[in-house]
Amino acid sequence: MYIRASEIPREGLDVVASRGKTWIPRLLEGMNSYPLRACRMLSATLSLFLEGRDLEASGTFAAEGEGECDRCAEPVTLQLDREFRSMYVPADRGPAESGDLELRADDLDIAFYDGGGIEVADIFREQVALALPAKVLCREDCRGICPHCGADRNRSECDCPGETSQGPFDVLKTMRKEKE
Ligand SMILES: [Zn+2]
Ligand SMILES: [Zn+2]
Repeated sequence: MYIRASEIPREGLDVVASRGKTWIPRLLEGMNSYPLRACRMLSATLSLFLEGRDLEASGTFAAEGEGECDRCAEPVTLQLDREFRSMYVPADRGPAESGDLELRADDLDIAFYDGGGIEVADIFREQVALALPAKVLCREDCRGICPHCGADRNRSECDCPGETSQGPFDVLKTMRKEKE
């Protein structure tokens, strides 16, 4: 959903209040949400405010993503929730233009827009991308799959030698054990 800068009133625009909510579930359609396989938006709020030509976007979102644990390949469902506040400045903004950007830079994400308007999905995709995990784990201490026998080490211990103690003699010991 595209919103033109000229459509934003002086007092700001509450996007949900003025446009309803039907656009929310489609926000992340087709988005590359790596390392998650898929991600969908559950709820969102967004307010747009113009200060000169600088556009401030603030809001919240809750999304749900699905992926696979990096270590054991079990399916994982993740909740991504965030509150955000970003400033979009026109790409052709002059340094002397209204407002003091440097003063605001500390507490704000600053991005560029073309000055004419903004695609709402782009705002949320950017925010979801920032919230994506670097790595998907079913739990922090997932023990993963044994590289030797393929056993899921969260469910059962296997008799394979541990990674740290594995040397040529350990392999011999294992072979002897198997013969017994
Ligand atoms: Zn796991
Ligand atoms: Zn094993």
